[in-house]
Amino acid sequence: MTDWVAEESQYLFQNYGRQPIVLERGAGTRVWDVEGNEYLDFVGGVAVNILGHAHPVVVKALAEQASTLIHTSNLFYTKPMIQLAKLLVENSCLDRVFFCNSGTEAVEGAIKLARRWGLDTRDGAHEIITTVDGFHGRSLGALAATGNARYRDPFGPLMPGFHHVPWNDLEAIKAATNEKTVAVMVEPIQGEGGVNMPAPGYLQGIRDWCDEEGLLFILDEVQTGIGRTGSLFAYEQEGVEPDIMTLAKGLAGGVPIGAVMAREDIAAHLVKGDHGSTFGGNALAAAAGYATVKHVIDEDLSAAARNASERLVSRLRSMEDRLAVVNEVRGRGLLIAVQFTRDCASDVVDACRRRGLLANNVRPNAVRLMPPLNVSDDEIDRACDILEEAIVDATRSVAK
Ligand SMILES: *Cc1c(COP(=O)(O)O)cnc(C)c1O
Repeated sequence: MTDWVAEESQYLFQNYGRQPIVLERGAGTRVWDVEGNEYLDFVGGVAVNILGHAHPVVVKALAEQASTLIHTSNLFYTKPMIQLAKLLVENSCLDRVFFCNSGTEAVEGAIKLARRWGLDTRDGAHEIITTVDGFHGRSLGALAATGNARYRDPFGPLMPGFHHVPWNDLEAIKAATNEKTVAVMVEPIQGEGGVNMPAPGYLQGIRDWCDEEGLLFILDEVQTGIGRTGSLFAYEQEGVEPDIMTLAKGLAGGVPIGAVMAREDIAAHLVKGDHGSTFGGNALAAAAGYATVKHVIDEDLSAAARNASERLVSRLRSMEDRLAVVNEVRGRGLLIAVQFTRDCASDVVDACRRRGLLANNVRPNAVRLMPPLNVSDDEIDRACDILEEAIVDATRSVAK
């Protein structure tokens, strides 16, 4: 039998720390490895598989589009990208969409749009304020925006023009603002940084400051968008509207895609030839995106995520009450982190996997759970049973 792990280590760049299983097949919230072991998938492709694996709606859209037209480039019009753009505009506060292929690319597009707008309307203002522990991607522009030195430092010099200020510190944003500032960009909830929640009023405070100073408010909803936090977009629950928004992960139910959305008067500053992508708006990806987003809206999977979240969080909070090593449960919708009193997250994740649950150690001391929006009550209960056993096993945690 092929030793896939050995071959991976021979042929691929060794830039990932992968969990030691080879996944072959999935259905709903379950996946199977090449040895036939079954797992409950609470990683969900890192908040990507919002409908779970092999959802019939996505499979059908892909199969039909693949046998009709996969790719044409943006030298021509195709139907799926127009249908998806219309659906996103009709269900958000924004007016126009640019499609690309990943979250990083969406952030790059948002940065370029903000700079273009700054050139035309703000005398060349181009600096963007972002937050420490914020994550916006790995290309050199998106990396410059990312507030994690561990990702940034080995790759300098990076693109200039970014200020990183502490998360949840509105005064720091005000202090970092100068005549060259064009935008403030944050995630509604810091995902990769550890599922860090915005303090009440923080996003509203940024919105008000941007209005006062004439800055663009960019929300990076790459991880939080498309129902993940219990509303189609996370901004809805914060009572604020961004000027520019980035989307990617869940947008096409597992197929690579990214999008920048913007208000009409801002989007108008990107003119013919200013920006582009060969694959962006690709018919196959856009058809998957349209089917996915339409299903989320028609079936109100945002509400399903809220209900599932209530069950998941109450089970996790009861663990927090029982186990001394669990000291916080945080998040919103189905973007949830369980934090420990020590750096045991990788041991907990290993113990979960041995018992048939896939989870992610988002920080050395925190496990992140991102099941599909249509996860069932039974699956939540089973996952929580496994997680609790795994925590006890991995930490020898004693009852409180
Ligand atoms: C994952 C993520 C990105 C980067 O997306 P990729 O598709 O990995 O390029 C950007 N911003 C946020 C908020 C993310 O969670």
